[in-house]
Amino acid sequence: MKLNYIVNRSPKRHKLTITVERDRSVVVHAPENTPEEQIQEVVDSRRQWIYEKIGHSQKYRELPHPPGKELISGESVLYLGRSYRIEVIDGDLKQGVHFDRCFTIPAVKVNIRKRLFQEWYLEQARDKILPRVKRYAREMGVEYASAKIVDSQYRWGSCTAKNNINLNWRLIKAPVFVIDYIIVHELAHLMEPNHTPRFWNIVRTQAPLAVKGRAWLKENGHFLESEI
Ligand SMILES: [Zn+2]
Repeated sequence: MKLNYIVNRSPKRHKLTITVERDRSVVVHAPENTPEEQIQEVVDSRRQWIYEKIGHSQKYRELPHPPGKELISGESVLYLGRSYRIEVIDGDLKQGVHFDRCFTIPAVKVNIRKRLFQEWYLEQARDKILPRVKRYAREMGVEYASAKIVDSQYRWGSCTAKNNINLNWRLIKAPVFVIDYIIVHELAHLMEPNHTPRFWNIVRTQAPLAVKGRAWLKENGHFLESEI
């Protein structure tokens, strides 16, 4: 079985490392003069690990049963404030996380579900949250430099000194009024950097459910952090 990979040589590197990217491409980062044979050797020695990372079928063929089927079928995850069941289906390697009233994931990918769900959420967050940022900015008459969905651990959103709006992808698990509250909160910082009474006035005017949104996050925020 041939394993394709990209070699990235750099004089700044002293060690050979292998990474598996989000799109599942395998990248070998190597010091400038590493011979091709040595790279192949290292890749071969880490084959099992690489297959595991990319969820390759080779790994599963050795196992009598699809791993983890019992583990997560019936588990549920949040999306836009509602909880949906995950069904593990037979499926094949071309399939990923799919949503249609419930989530499905092929059994051969159950062991990489954490990453697959995160990717799915990120995509939804970009599709659904970023246009709302644009819309609210227009309504509020503010301009930001950029708006991004980010993977931050400790905050739901931020507005940087350079007027960049960053929003945590985990917000896509929350109800829309919570998402809107965070969007408006960060955009309001473009007018008022501090949490002054004026700031909260702007937020409440733009997001009538801001108080409710804030309370929801206080009470339920930790659910958004939990991983499957
Ligand atoms: Zn703030």
